[in-house]
Amino acid sequence: MMQAKEMVVVSGKGGTGKTSLTGSLSFLFRDKVIADCDVDAANLHMILNLDEVLLTKEFFGGKKARIAPERCTQCGKCRDVCLYDAISGDFVIDPVSCEGCGTCHFLCPVEAIDFDERLAGYCYICSTEDNGRFVFAEMLPGEENSGKLVAMVRNEAREEAKKTGHGLILIDGPPGIGCPVISSLTGTHLALIVTEPTPAGAHDLKRIVELTNHFQIKTAVVVNKSDINASYVGETQRLCKENGILYLGEIPYEPKITEAQKEAKTILDFAPQCVASRAIREIHTKLQSILEEL
Ligand code: SF4
Ligand code: SF4
Repeated sequence: MMQAKEMVVVSGKGGTGKTSLTGSLSFLFRDKVIADCDVDAANLHMILNLDEVLLTKEFFGGKKARIAPERCTQCGKCRDVCLYDAISGDFVIDPVSCEGCGTCHFLCPVEAIDFDERLAGYCYICSTEDNGRFVFAEMLPGEENSGKLVAMVRNEAREEAKKTGHGLILIDGPPGIGCPVISSLTGTHLALIVTEPTPAGAHDLKRIVELTNHFQIKTAVVVNKSDINASYVGETQRLCKENGILYLGEIPYEPKITEAQKEAKTILDFAPQCVASRAIREIHTKLQSILEEL
């Protein structure tokens, strides 16, 4: 069986319309599994027509220390060695401050500190109304290691693609350029960057292009809200040319997108003939051609 192609939608920062575009593309690509890798603020599920949660899996992010009060003699050694001030005067460890270094666990003279993997989140595998699959995850409050959770979402999406025979994994990546973004990008076949025509947009675009170049991922760019500052559209096109990146086009500013979001719909669902919907369909056609050639 052919391995599914993986396309990740990313942006150098939040608020560029990345998730709205991913949601719309998910309606246009029929043969796909969708993965929401924005695990710190998953919201793609709100605009997709989900059917039911088929499976919930626990995510263990890393080890944290916990003092068993019945075994603790209150000698204070753990407090002396903790570099993160995570242990209170009455010998309770704050799970948010604990960095999981394990020092206190190894130095406690009476083995009163447990050091186990902690439940840090959940990963959900859902069916969608168009018979596709959707995988997303949520971190529990105060938990970290979202890069590892992103890897779990991608693995589950790959498994679903294998089981269902779908040829595309469409990934909504996290914003920014940190560890979760790197986890979302590595090993994908195509990165679609959503940017805005502003100085900040151009700056963030350069940073994320450096990442995709570093990982040698074929990259394409879309300018969202393109008519708010037309001069930066030219700047984006120039940057794409200089870096050998595919420039796929523009999505004009469309106030109906906000209305669609309020109704938990994609713009294609809400206003299929508006300028933004037409632009997204053109971008989808170009993406299909690129993916066929990969
Ligand atoms: S080092 Fe162990 S025994 Fe001493 S205060 Fe800490 S947990 Fe209690
Ligand atoms: S595991 Fe490390 S960070 Fe956590 S409480 Fe112990 S010494 Fe402090």
